[in-house]
Amino acid sequence: MSELHALLGGTFDPVHYGHLRPAEALAQQIGLKRVLLLPNNVPPHRPQPEASPRQRVDMLRCAISDRPLFEIDTRELMRETPSWTVATLEALRAERGPQQPLGFIIGQDSLLSLSGWHRWQELLSLCHLLVCKRPGYAAEMESPEMQCWLEDHLAVSAQQLHQQPAGFIWLADTPLVDISATEIRQRRHQKLPCDDLLPPAVIDYIDRTGLYLK
Ligand code: ATP
Repeated sequence: MSELHALLGGTFDPVHYGHLRPAEALAQQIGLKRVLLLPNNVPPHRPQPEASPRQRVDMLRCAISDRPLFEIDTRELMRETPSWTVATLEALRAERGPQQPLGFIIGQDSLLSLSGWHRWQELLSLCHLLVCKRPGYAAEMESPEMQCWLEDHLAVSAQQLHQQPAGFIWLADTPLVDISATEIRQRRHQKLPCDDLLPPAVIDYIDRTGLYLK
């Protein structure tokens, strides 16, 4: 059986400790060997990231240079059009074959809005969902149906995530990190310091390029 690998998708405008620390804790907890950071292509009708795709990738590179757990996967940015998560997972599953255990890491906020995702019912046929805590979000799903769906798929031990290629939900006991990219952008606009919110190498990059000032 091959190793459990996981994807962590996001806008990463910019990447911050709320992405990195829970994923690192989760990896420790369940013996996850690799996390692919997957910067999203934002659809034209949605508010666009302030940083360009290139800058978002550059910031990810700065963030992970001393974090061997992580790798960057730019497949969604290489396409002209935004990709659905389910389609990206299908492509990854096709590359890795049916047996490799794959996880998709999300924060609690994303779990709560999962029923709005395109073809969300198919996600568990492609991967496990690895859910990190996020402060300020309810522990229960918004409807009894979704709560039942969640409970039906909960893994009882981390071993199951290695033994099956997909199909389980793992509610990880990760540290609560009260940081969002929105807060970082707002603090920068107000010329407030962002130390402790994101890695120093990313702050240096933001300073050098003058990002998030206007
Ligand atoms: P924004 O404030 O611009 O909406 P964000 O900080 O929420 O951005 P994203 O890049 O949109 O970051 O998030 C990508 C993924 O990381 C999502 O699954 C989200 O739930 C998770 N995530 C982001 N911040 C945290 C955090 N502080 N704790 C746990 N998970 C987080």
